[in-house]
Amino acid sequence: MKPKSSVIWNYFNEVSGNTAKCKLCQKIYSRKGGTTTSLKSHLKFVHTTEFEEFAKLETEKKDTVQPSTSTPVQEVRKQITLKDTLMKNQKWCSSNPKSIEIDKLISEMISLQDLPFTFVKGIGFRRLTHFIAPNYQLRGRHFFC
Ligand SMILES: [Zn+2]
Repeated sequence: MKPKSSVIWNYFNEVSGNTAKCKLCQKIYSRKGGTTTSLKSHLKFVHTTEFEEFAKLETEKKDTVQPSTSTPVQEVRKQITLKDTLMKNQKWCSSNPKSIEIDKLISEMISLQDLPFTFVKGIGFRRLTHFIAPNYQLRGRHFFC
């Protein structure tokens, strides 16, 4: 007999080679071709909460073995990745360490070279900072006063 590696066996007991008993409702299920597919759909439609837990467990397991079909948990992960991608195009907030550093350097440049504060509003300077640091949100001239 093959070892029961699937987490589905947290919810079912094997009765014989072709049947399994649901631990939750004691219903006996036939396993066509020895697969766990019918057991999974039983869990999915009858025991929703347990199915969510099962899907999570199975995903965690698959992550280390063979990532394949999309489970609800993986869908959520995809969304998180998408969010990350969107974040990359977003401007840094003023507390971002790099942003703070750039602010500091611009302030320094203005005072060291005795530049007018309006310098930061100049299109040339804006283009330069946008090219060097696309995520940097250039401050208004009042910020550097
Ligand atoms: Zn059941």
